[in-house]
Amino acid sequence: MSRIIYARLATGSEVKAFMDSINAKNESSYKKYKSYLFRNKDKIIDAYESIYQRFVEIENENNDQHKRYVRAFNSKKCTCGSDVIFIESGGFWGCKNYKDTSVKHKNFIIKNDWDWDYYLKEPKKVHTSDWLRSVKEIAGLEKKINHASILSFLEKNGKEDLKMIFEGKSSWDSVNRLKNANFKAKGFESKVYSRLLEIYDAKSVFSQQPIKYQYEGMESKYCFLDFLVMDRENNKVIIVECKLSEDEKNDFQREEYIELTSFAMRSKGINMDLEFMYITPEGGVEYV
Ligand SMILES: [Zn+2]
Repeated sequence: MSRIIYARLATGSEVKAFMDSINAKNESSYKKYKSYLFRNKDKIIDAYESIYQRFVEIENENNDQHKRYVRAFNSKKCTCGSDVIFIESGGFWGCKNYKDTSVKHKNFIIKNDWDWDYYLKEPKKVHTSDWLRSVKEIAGLEKKINHASILSFLEKNGKEDLKMIFEGKSSWDSVNRLKNANFKAKGFESKVYSRLLEIYDAKSVFSQQPIKYQYEGMESKYCFLDFLVMDRENNKVIIVECKLSEDEKNDFQREEYIELTSFAMRSKGINMDLEFMYITPEGGVEYV
């Protein structure tokens, strides 16, 4: 990793100026493509609706699957509803109805903590990550049309951000390539925030804390920590990052945030310990 020239907590007015410049850029790209987008309005709305429907179906399937898992766990049967028997030769519990390949077979007879957490805690989430790209592809829009102008167009036509509906996060943050920003998060992050406020006072919990930094040979940038917590009682600062799943954890990001935050602390002469903490729904907010 290259050398840090500086890293510090950014001020509110700096961030505002930065966000204003991004919004101005988005607005001007929307204006540029506006008439093209309106000419293709029906195709864009149809594409949006079809993707929305597909996500609803996936969400329903995930919910049904989760109910089957919980039912199988409670009844000690297979997820298909049949009885489960111990297969001596194989040394495992198998479904009596295993020959029926039209349905999936799974049971939780031998309780495994990992299975329990992974399958039973809550339904799988719908991943909407590429939904704007899909709108663009399905509607057959020209290559030059950017995601920001498509998202502006949809919002101005009363269509909600699908990432917000299904994952509780704003698509704008990824469209604007804001590293790890969740400015309008209403899902998991907001639950974590309330939980943190039960432990620390509001003045000690900084949500979406911006850090302005620059590495040698690169432009200055901003990154946004989900939460920065000042635990004065224990003389430590904690970076709290929310991830929806274990897969989203990112060692590189983790190291970078630790490096930048400790640099910012040193520059300010803050001599507190620094800790980093991931919180996932699987891990449970209650373990904060
Ligand atoms: Zn079965």
